[in-house]
Amino acid sequence: MYEPEEDEGPITREDNPFIEKFEAFFKDRYSKEIERLVTNYPKKRSLHVDFTDIEHYDPDLADEILVNSDICIEAATLAIKNIDVPMLEIDEFSPHVRFHNLPPERQPILKDISAAHISKLITVEGVIQQVTEVLPKLKYATWKCTRCEAAYKIPQTKNQPKTPTLCTECKNRTFLLEEETSEFEDYQKIRIQEPLELLKGSEQATNLDVYVSDDLVNMVSPGDRLKLTGIIRLVPPKEKKTVYGRYLEAVHIEETDKEFEEVEISKEEEAHIKELAAKPEVYDVLVQSIAPHIYGHETVKEAIALQLFGGVKKVMTNDQKVRGNIHILLVGDPGMAKSQILKAADAIAPKSIYVAGKTTSGAGISATAVKDEFGDGGWTLKAGALVLASGGMAMVDEFDKMDPDDRSAMHEALEQQTISVAKAGIVTKFKSETSVLAAANPKFSRFDPYQPFIDQINLPPTLISRFDLFFMIKDVLDRTKDQEIANHILRTHRAGEMMLQRAKLKISTRDRELEEVQKEITPEISADMLKKYISFARQNIFPVLSIAGMKKIGDFYVSLRDQGRKEGAYAATHRQLEGIIRLSEASARVRLSNDVEEQDVDRAIRLVKGSLEDMVTDPETGKIDIDIITSGQTHTQLANLKKVLAIIKEKGHELDMVPMEEVMTEAKTLGIDSEKVRDIIGKLQKSGDVYYPKHGFVKPT
Ligand code: ADP
Ligand code: MG
Repeated sequence: MYEPEEDEGPITREDNPFIEKFEAFFKDRYSKEIERLVTNYPKKRSLHVDFTDIEHYDPDLADEILVNSDICIEAATLAIKNIDVPMLEIDEFSPHVRFHNLPPERQPILKDISAAHISKLITVEGVIQQVTEVLPKLKYATWKCTRCEAAYKIPQTKNQPKTPTLCTECKNRTFLLEEETSEFEDYQKIRIQEPLELLKGSEQATNLDVYVSDDLVNMVSPGDRLKLTGIIRLVPPKEKKTVYGRYLEAVHIEETDKEFEEVEISKEEEAHIKELAAKPEVYDVLVQSIAPHIYGHETVKEAIALQLFGGVKKVMTNDQKVRGNIHILLVGDPGMAKSQILKAADAIAPKSIYVAGKTTSGAGISATAVKDEFGDGGWTLKAGALVLASGGMAMVDEFDKMDPDDRSAMHEALEQQTISVAKAGIVTKFKSETSVLAAANPKFSRFDPYQPFIDQINLPPTLISRFDLFFMIKDVLDRTKDQEIANHILRTHRAGEMMLQRAKLKISTRDRELEEVQKEITPEISADMLKKYISFARQNIFPVLSIAGMKKIGDFYVSLRDQGRKEGAYAATHRQLEGIIRLSEASARVRLSNDVEEQDVDRAIRLVKGSLEDMVTDPETGKIDIDIITSGQTHTQLANLKKVLAIIKEKGHELDMVPMEEVMTEAKTLGIDSEKVRDIIGKLQKSGDVYYPKHGFVKPT
């Protein structure tokens, strides 16, 4: 085995025994590629070498690359210049040699990178979390002696600048960098994290910083999934400590499929999935398998089941995309197991992330550009949960407490499935094909059944209207239900205690009871199996609406609109129509059916209708009124507002200032009481339609 000398000087033919070996290999296997490179140089300046080619040609050399990575890369870089190809008019030909496709034992997961990998080539897979802008990095420094101006050109390989120790001319020890004659190289810092689908349960994702340079910069953006080959290097510790940081110096970048669905499914598992899907009671089994430790909430669980399977993403002829992802919003009183349900869904989804609205580092949900330490003073593009989970699901808890930045990004993320960042001259768009399951609390901590729902939630109506389904989870005082839930919670807690007792104290007197409870709260389909089932359906099933299904959806939609038209209100918009289609598709996927049948449509309609009744019923008329979420007001409220404004305008013609008293008297004849008038005038003032010239008076603008 080759042992490098202590003193690193320039490597020459004599002391690098691998140069000749690489020459032989290149001549034999890569002469075409090198010729092409010469022709395109310096626009193209990298030779990509498949590691398996070397393995086949010279197994010993392949081993050396793994052991003495740096020396071999150096040798390959020198060898390439010696290959006999007609050199066009190139003064200096010094391309990079970029190895890739390392053997499996050199492809650790991020978590498993250890001291054994230092200074060695490895390949890792990850999703990009952050990318800095491109910065200049010193490659060859020209140092000038401050006394006699003698110049020294020194290659820079470390993070700290390397200067001459002593001027050979005048023995001076201070030098200044001469920028004009120094050489710089583009460089960029990237932070990757473990792909979400490779994490189990609520495992924390591991990070790794990667340095890329020259022609590898600006190849990737946050959210991209990559296979990176490079050498693990150490960052010297700050202060006098012995713990080193580490980073990967990238040699090769390869983008891998971003569409996830990594999960591997065996033939037996596939057979089992098909068997499950063929059962008529499959939907009940699914509902039972989602958060079985949470009692009730069957409709919510059914909706989440469909959300996990997802609708079909369509690309229309004009390249317009229509999302297949289903978004669900749960709004409910505190302590109603919303967070628990979100976490349970997170454990089942093949690729997902759970975040709380108020993240510690702002914009942790969408994406942003920040100036931070990571970027060494420059800008860093940072991907948040919705970008990292693209192709999967994001569970956003405390949705109402989101950062203002995240909140505005959410509009675009939910409908267009992208997140745009325009900040300080940086304009980029991230893909966020993520389906969102969100939970929020009412503004005044508990719902008041006599107030329109929209007034009780701290979210803009425009944002709420982008959800396909919303559920209002009210804490109702119902004796039987209270008893049932209490029973369930007590029993599951008791079972948990018994299990612990059995494990710790080896007491097992209550095995029968334990078994019974366990049966109740053990999902019929295990989380692992469910993951596979969902992945299988998403990968292989692409259902199409049947004619009968289409008619059914059309009829329902028109009837909703009809009902609204009679009242002059909008009971539904096209968004609801699309929501029903998506849910129907998801329902067909559950059955592994490529046809959306009437039963799927029925299920979707039932869910959408229930959800509309929950959230957008006008408390004054008891009718479904989608205006509650499209404009934030019920149709009745909107009509009253118009009436009051008309009164003020009318009176404004005769009077300079309109006394509030008069408006109230007049409004009363139209059935609007004084309290509401006060409320409405407040709204009109906010919208800029009227103002208060003095106390007790209003004036139209
Ligand atoms: P939320 O997020 O809605 O405020 P949590 O998810 O934090 O509520 O739930 C509070 C606690 O109450 C949890 O420990 C949960 O398990 C329990 N809980 C609430 N509702 C139920 C239920 N229907 N079945 C079982 N446990 C419940
Ligand atoms: Mg909660």
